[in-house]
Amino acid sequence: MGLEATMPVDNILTTQVQAVINWARRSAVWPMPFATACCGIELMATAMSRYDLSRFGAEVFRFSPRQADLMIVAGRISTKMLPVMHRIYNQMCEPKWVISMGACASTGGVFDTYAVVQGVDQFLPVDVYVPGCPPRPEMLIEGVMAIQRIIDEDNLPTDGRGKRVPLNLALEPNYEPAAQPVDVTVGLS
Ligand code: SF4
Repeated sequence: MGLEATMPVDNILTTQVQAVINWARRSAVWPMPFATACCGIELMATAMSRYDLSRFGAEVFRFSPRQADLMIVAGRISTKMLPVMHRIYNQMCEPKWVISMGACASTGGVFDTYAVVQGVDQFLPVDVYVPGCPPRPEMLIEGVMAIQRIIDEDNLPTDGRGKRVPLNLALEPNYEPAAQPVDVTVGLS
């Protein structure tokens, strides 16, 4: 069903040009996968039919930075890899956004060593952090939707105080916590 089915085609719409530009950009985000470790497997799963990132218009993964506007850093970044990541980011089109996917990309994770970057936000302007080790595909999709909400607000009036409107983003657990163990007693009571 297209828009024509829900509204008469001889109607007139008025809107801001910026709103139309934002709508076009948020509906066709082209990610640049910078996957260096196990988070990359979840990144791949996100684009497969089970999770279907295509529903959000962001399934066109490009392996050329000149055709991408969303860098997804998925995995730990070694100091040797850092210049490569920087170069690819600099070659991407403007405007561009960055998702830091997983604990390793955001903080170095368990790899607290001299050879691993302890958070890519020291070197890239990260817009959205997706927590987890690894994050599930649903969480990455939520991260992409958060990017879309950021694009929606781009260059449009803010809350009047010059601040970006909060995203109201919260991930609730989708399971019931198991009952906790009963009190442990030691020795004879
Ligand atoms: S956050 Fe976990 S799953 Fe992701 S790259 Fe690091 S160790 Fe692997």
